[in-house]
Amino acid sequence: MKLEKRIQELGSELIINTRELDVEQNWLDALINHAISDPQFRIQTLRFIDVLPSLDDDIELTRHLQEYFGSLETPLPELALWGLNQSDKPWLAHIAAPLVRYTIRSLARRFMGGSNIQRACNTVDKLKHAGMSSSLDILGEDSVSEHEADAYLKAYLEMILAMSAHMQAWTDLEIVDQLHGRAAPRLNVSLKLSSLYSQIDAADIEGSVRAIKQRLIPILECALEHHAFVMIDMEQYDYKNIILTCFLEILEDSRFRYWPDIGIAIQTYLRDSFDDLSRIVEVLKKRATPATVRLVRGAYWDYETIVADQNNWPSPVWLHKNDTDANFERCMDFLFSEHPVVEAVIATHNTRSLAAAMAIAENHNLSKQDYEFQMLYGMADSLKDLLVQRQQHLRIYVPYGETLPGMAYLVRRLLENSSGQSVLDMGLTHDQPVDLDKPVFSLHEEGKKLSVDSRFHNQALYRFTETVEHDVFVQALSQCRQQFGQVYPLIIDGKSCHTKQTILSINPASPDEMVGVVASASKKLADAALDSAKKAHVYWRRVSVTERASYLRKIASLLQDRRVEFAAWQIFEAGKNWREADADVCEAIDFLNYYADQAERLDQMTINQSSGEQNSSCYRPRGVGLVIPPWNFPLAILTGMMAATIVCGNTAIVKPSSQTPVIAAKFVELIHQAGLPEGVVNLLTGSGADIGEYLANHVDVQIIAFTGSMTVGSHLINIAAQLHPGQTHIKRIIAEMGGKNAIIVDTDADMDEAVTGTVSSAFGFQGQKCSAASRVIVLDHVYDCFLERLVETARSLRIGQPEDPGNVMGPVISEQAQTHILSVINDGKQQTRVALYDYADHFDKGYFIPPVIFTDVAADSMLAQQEIFGPVLSVIRARDFDQALQLANNSQYALTGGVYSRDPDHLQRAKSEFNVGNLYLNRKITGALVSRQPFGGYKLSGTGYKAGSENYLLQFMNSSTITENTMRRGFAPMEEHNNK
Ligand code: NAD
Repeated sequence: MKLEKRIQELGSELIINTRELDVEQNWLDALINHAISDPQFRIQTLRFIDVLPSLDDDIELTRHLQEYFGSLETPLPELALWGLNQSDKPWLAHIAAPLVRYTIRSLARRFMGGSNIQRACNTVDKLKHAGMSSSLDILGEDSVSEHEADAYLKAYLEMILAMSAHMQAWTDLEIVDQLHGRAAPRLNVSLKLSSLYSQIDAADIEGSVRAIKQRLIPILECALEHHAFVMIDMEQYDYKNIILTCFLEILEDSRFRYWPDIGIAIQTYLRDSFDDLSRIVEVLKKRATPATVRLVRGAYWDYETIVADQNNWPSPVWLHKNDTDANFERCMDFLFSEHPVVEAVIATHNTRSLAAAMAIAENHNLSKQDYEFQMLYGMADSLKDLLVQRQQHLRIYVPYGETLPGMAYLVRRLLENSSGQSVLDMGLTHDQPVDLDKPVFSLHEEGKKLSVDSRFHNQALYRFTETVEHDVFVQALSQCRQQFGQVYPLIIDGKSCHTKQTILSINPASPDEMVGVVASASKKLADAALDSAKKAHVYWRRVSVTERASYLRKIASLLQDRRVEFAAWQIFEAGKNWREADADVCEAIDFLNYYADQAERLDQMTINQSSGEQNSSCYRPRGVGLVIPPWNFPLAILTGMMAATIVCGNTAIVKPSSQTPVIAAKFVELIHQAGLPEGVVNLLTGSGADIGEYLANHVDVQIIAFTGSMTVGSHLINIAAQLHPGQTHIKRIIAEMGGKNAIIVDTDADMDEAVTGTVSSAFGFQGQKCSAASRVIVLDHVYDCFLERLVETARSLRIGQPEDPGNVMGPVISEQAQTHILSVINDGKQQTRVALYDYADHFDKGYFIPPVIFTDVAADSMLAQQEIFGPVLSVIRARDFDQALQLANNSQYALTGGVYSRDPDHLQRAKSEFNVGNLYLNRKITGALVSRQPFGGYKLSGTGYKAGSENYLLQFMNSSTITENTMRRGFAPMEEHNNK
């Protein structure tokens, strides 16, 4: 109680004294206030600021301004409003655009300490004269290539040398120079570790830490030599464990063991933050030299909650501001209690937190020398002055650098200031009430999931932020390896059937390793499978939909229990990396659950009654279905087509791809463990051209569910159209086929996103997804700069054994595929320029092909038209957006496509004119989720309804409408009248 009273006392003092200080009010305050109260305006403003640096053409800029704000009431400054009103007069664009740029640049300058080191020197000089220290941050977000990471390393080293020399010349000033009873380094550098390694990935903590340290250690050595302090910034949650591990390893590194001038930021909006602090303190106790923790609330709240919600992950952050506030004070108390083992920096603009820090420090008998406050440049200036007046140590976080990378920082500051979740008293406005109440943890801390309801939810992918997710993968890989070489029979009528002829399944990353030996069916055994399926159908067609759906859910649940094991098999048999393998299993689980729900939905009869007449409609199974999946989604596509077949009351013969038969065999084994009656699903591994085609031709097959190449698919469509003697039905064929998918990069695209999205779409799983990008159409204006970054980013991808989670790319599926792709590359080289093709000899084992990029590819050339199904990307130049759309549509396929643009008009045009089954705007074009992004194309990419859609199951059934005349001699049952 005494403590709380003291906090209130100090807090009130701060409020009264701050209000006495004269704070300049300007239009920015009005803008932020307006943004808080008008969410649509907030979004448009942030989006406009985000796109602005890419608009170097005046007419483009005014057009965007009109598109973003044309219909909104805005509290923009007069100059900008004037610009907006002129945007329909192109001749005035050259006057309006510079004014708008000037306005936003002033806004940016408010939060940034200059565009280069020289300007940053002036800023820190001014701060020092005002009695404040500084921490310098070089603006920029993640590096997208190793080339960029090298540039960051160089920039940090240059900054340390230049700044430390500059600050050496300062005259002494005690409040800046003395802290914790010793000389404080004048230069303090804030460092984002993600900028030091482009392939940072939570799935590969070890590799990421190793690579980051290669660039971090020279920075630390330089800082040590020049008496500079290094503060490691915390970033998004995915990187937290990597950043923390780096920090802890550095603390224990003999080179830095006795160095106190290093620290790390801890974000108290994270639920884990208190445990992380405890871990740090534990290490510091052993180390016996202190280090610093900067306590912040965290600046990525919107991002963290959206990402968690989108992926069905538990939220890593507290959802209520109160919990973050309460945690902030709890962590602060802990930090002060562990002084001097750990030295505390309290980074806040919140009056209550400032007062709490002062009172808690007093409570632990700490002096003002024993801790430091930090605030951001350009924010809460009145509070800063007040702290200096009170002789508190205050350090200002000063980001500096070019405006372009700086915009992301500016957007984050504005987002933070205008968020309903804002934990700041900005000091930007006097109108905001200051809350001094003691924050307490919510009694009913919300369930960890953000949105909980009964609708279908996609299986959450592993985030790999938990160590346990790692460990289970490593363990599963080792267990699978122990089972290499096992023999897998056919399953016909529930019985195992071994064959003399077999298929050898090998590990494409290491062809000496035999993953398994699988039976290969003959035509005779195909007949046996057909007999079994026909026999089972007699019973299965009468099983209720509810019961059939419950089998699917049971299989889903068994698969969920063994998801990592199934992912491990894909890593070995298909060459997928950890994340791709996990995603494939999750998609299989989704298909099972989703089609179970959809079958039950369709089972509800639709009735449209009339007097004296009863109408009903129902769906009936068709018969025996032949399921022919490809190897590239060896579990998900097989499961989806099989589940749809059987839940509708048909029985199935599954003929998997001969490249991935072990996964299929393991899965059919699993579905029988679910108790599925014998003969409902028969496994018939064997040659596609042989038994696949034999069965497709067979008169007793009613449905062919095929996914694969256009050549095989169109051949099967032909086969299905033929009536054989004695055939009494038209075969239903569902054929999902290839693609030649394009991404358009517009002049105003976010280049970081466009580059990383294109690289991931083109080279994820070695370009062997039907949805993969194989063409990128880039507008002339940004062609060269996009290409340069694209090439460096693709070059930075790590290729190697997919067992190692640090390898983004693995092998292509087979020697035959490798030979084919290499020959296409050779042909391509005769046609156009290769911008990237580093074929390294160290790929001696395994069917590896590195990313290949061709440039200035002609629109009608083989490279631009043929599906290559490997890591080969063609870059095509377009004059303008019209031509880009026309080039994108110049294909026999229409499967997936993407546009990176921040022009609302262009995005709208793409929605209506881009001919693809799945269009993605401003994101990668692969990774469709069941139900959320029903998947499938048209033109020569496929027939029928989309997989994972509400309509998909209709293709597996016949529909009947039954009408009964219920009138007998002029009367009908009464309820029919009432139902009318
Ligand atoms: P593929 O056409 O070579 O083989 C697909 C399946 O058909 C395999 O199981 C194979 O054994 C079988 N098969 C081959 N010849 C046959 C025949 N004559 N009769 C009956 N069955 C036969 O394709 P793939 O190499 O396994 O897969 C890659 C292709 O699949 C790519 O073209 C890709 O775009 C496409 N694909 C499309 C989608 C989609 O949803 N549209 C999804 C994944 C893959």
